[in-house]
Amino acid sequence: MTRLPRTLPIRLDPLPGEALDSWLEALAHRLCTTLGDVTSHLGFPVRARSGNHLHDIPSDWTIALREHEAAAVAYASGVPPAVITAMTLAHYDERALRIDPVRRHVDRRVLWGRGRGSRFCPDCLTDSGGRWQLLWRLGWAFACTRHQRLLADCCPNCGRVQRQRPHSGRVIPQPSLCGNPPSQPGRPPFGGCGFDLAGTTTLRLPSGHPALTAQHRLLETIESDITSFGAYAALPQPRLGALTVSEPSPAGF
Ligand SMILES: [Zn+2]
Ligand SMILES: [Zn+2]
Repeated sequence: MTRLPRTLPIRLDPLPGEALDSWLEALAHRLCTTLGDVTSHLGFPVRARSGNHLHDIPSDWTIALREHEAAAVAYASGVPPAVITAMTLAHYDERALRIDPVRRHVDRRVLWGRGRGSRFCPDCLTDSGGRWQLLWRLGWAFACTRHQRLLADCCPNCGRVQRQRPHSGRVIPQPSLCGNPPSQPGRPPFGGCGFDLAGTTTLRLPSGHPALTAQHRLLETIESDITSFGAYAALPQPRLGALTVSEPSPAGF
């Protein structure tokens, strides 16, 4: 961080499993201010060139934070640094994806690494008031086991994959809408169509459906140290080995 952060006037706890960008947007929404105001308040530097040197700024803060960045956000928000870090994809590094630690990119060549974008569960968006789960960004996530339905791949109205890039810093976020709200009254939304993604239709799955079982086991594998289900029961495998064996090629996104 290049500037000392100030403490925020309100405290908003992240939801379990929430992604960093979602929490930042929820903060801005709650404060009725622009996303840029919140990130500036928390000390995030703005992407800019200084001579020929590009600051160490990732394309998306939700991929990974440096230790001092997480500490600054924690200081300003009152949320522990470990919780802040767990909202970034670094939480899944070497478990469900691989992150280039220097460039802070997701390696798309291994473990179904998904460089950008997020799937979503419309019911989860409805229940949470538009808060986005981190695991929806994984190539491994395809169903919501809680609501027993497939995740949506994109906006059903305009076809855009969501969260291909961070939301605009110049407007007050509306986290369950496709794209950014209009920059001024009377203007159209930009970067999306404004559709309420909570209204997206996806296939509902009956209890015990193989897709739900598969999703449950994959998430269990990612969260545990050793895979011991099914084919691996006789000879438990380290997590990365099990995920790599079942990985098709090339990567999907
Ligand atoms: Zn759900
Ligand atoms: Zn749309």
